[in-house]
Amino acid sequence: MDENKAAKMQAQLQAMHEAYAAQLPEKIRQIEQTWSGLQNDWSDESFQTLHRLVHSLTGSGATFGFSMLSEAARTLEIIIKELIAEGKIPLSPAHRDEVAVYLKALREASQIADRKSPANAGIATQVAPHCDANNRLVFLVDDDVQLAEHLALQIGYFGYTIRAFPTLGEAFRTIIGSPPAVLLLDVDFPEDSLGGFNLLEQINREIGYLLPTIFISVHNELEYRLKAVRAGGCAYFNKPLDVAALIDKLEGLTSCEREEPYRILIVDDSRSLADYYATILKGAGMESEIVVEPLAVMRPLLEFMPDLILMDVYMPECSGLELAKVIRQQERFVSIPIVFLSAETDMEKQLDAMSLGGDDFLTKPIRPEHLVSSVATRVRRSRVLRSFMVRDSLTGLLNHTTIKAQLDIQLARAKRQGGKLAFAMLDIDHFKSVNDTYGHPTGDRVIRSLSRLLQQRLRTADVVGRYGGEEFAVIFNDTDGATAVKVLDDIRHDFGLIRHRHEKGEFSVTISAGVSGFPAINDAATMNEAADKALYAAKHGGRNRVVLSQD
Ligand code: GH3
Ligand code: MG
Ligand code: MG
Repeated sequence: MDENKAAKMQAQLQAMHEAYAAQLPEKIRQIEQTWSGLQNDWSDESFQTLHRLVHSLTGSGATFGFSMLSEAARTLEIIIKELIAEGKIPLSPAHRDEVAVYLKALREASQIADRKSPANAGIATQVAPHCDANNRLVFLVDDDVQLAEHLALQIGYFGYTIRAFPTLGEAFRTIIGSPPAVLLLDVDFPEDSLGGFNLLEQINREIGYLLPTIFISVHNELEYRLKAVRAGGCAYFNKPLDVAALIDKLEGLTSCEREEPYRILIVDDSRSLADYYATILKGAGMESEIVVEPLAVMRPLLEFMPDLILMDVYMPECSGLELAKVIRQQERFVSIPIVFLSAETDMEKQLDAMSLGGDDFLTKPIRPEHLVSSVATRVRRSRVLRSFMVRDSLTGLLNHTTIKAQLDIQLARAKRQGGKLAFAMLDIDHFKSVNDTYGHPTGDRVIRSLSRLLQQRLRTADVVGRYGGEEFAVIFNDTDGATAVKVLDDIRHDFGLIRHRHEKGEFSVTISAGVSGFPAINDAATMNEAADKALYAAKHGGRNRVVLSQD
């Protein structure tokens, strides 16, 4: 996190502490009022309310810099629970006196703020190394101008911007001023035969971190590869370059940039605590939504599609444990990680929570860095697991089942919102002959390069899947059929220009596509059929074209 952001977050947290302190007298007043009401007119319900009010201080006090208050509340809460468990209700005069003593301690503790609150304790919440979502800038340092031009063109198709430098000096000055996402670096220069290695060492020393760098060189000796590793290179490619493999590597090095922020649903009846968690998570680059009324959880669960639920255990209408059960009983949420938050130190309850499939149990007050790391670890793992279920292993695109399910979902949304939608089927032309001529592994490379081109050239709102074999499907949200045809036609054109490499020589491949649109067609099965028919027409019309369904 840069300093500015950190300072801003620090200020936000400080403001929350102050707001909490300002509300405290009112909270204490409520507790005392509930208690005095009980003196004349005992009701079990009011006693439960008292318990709940006290409990909420246990959790929130220390979080906002009142740890003595948390302690006092915890003690009182234990006493109340024991009295209930032992059937001492309504309370005898002696027990009332006992509770009154602890209430007094509670009031006193509410006036003592910690000297060092968590908000002032310095927060290190950065999850991943800094990634700039827009940074697809690649620098190429090579004295071979022709190669640079060729490479710039090829890499450009995949959404990268490439800038070439023919000399070491110019590259050095530009890079230390503003480093690119990835550096492609030749080794041998007229001015220095090991110039690439020396340049990278200087750059890394200057910028203070390892700039992701791919060496490209005519030398294939181990000695050179070793020098490349020592200089801090993360890959080494031999010339002539295999562009597809190079793109693979570039994708790997820049992939964190495409990861969507983690989405966290916070369920806590205390608005101020929920805001506090949201602020901390935001500081670590995550998005969150807050549910204060537990029974309103379903809608955000469906629409916000959280990666993880942060769930308070003790809430008035229903407990977090019950709510977790309800959520988990629905098949689509069976695997969503739930992290319970509670002032509850009662081991048995914690174990109970775990047995429900809750993945973690954090005890309030929670240290910001602990919250961030617990949440981030679980989201990361669950995203990987999920991706095995819904993604195709060769391309990482949505698999057949998932893209079909997506068409249903997106179509329903378009109908509800009165919007537009287009569906496309794509197929590689004469792909069998690619396999036959260059072998199956080369065929796989071609499939991957099309997959990558689609991912890069389509908007994040569009949904791309591998329908099977060399067939792909795309759902274009808020787009009519004619517009989708235009977009795909550009992609078709550029894909045809990509040179695929093989030891038998370079070759290029074309694609055909068929497109259908909503509202012209208004059910998923028919859209699918119509796109398939249009694809068939494209094939018969001579291939290498995009056809709009006439249905
Ligand atoms: P058309 O232009 O009519 O689409 O001709 P085509 O050769 O592309 O179509 P056809 O359906 O006859 O052949 C598709 C080939 O794609 C056959 C199959 O072996 C190959 N294929 C399917 N899946 C994969 C894969 O995952 N990897 C590779 N390398 N080839 C695959
Ligand atoms: Mg084909
Ligand atoms: Mg086919």
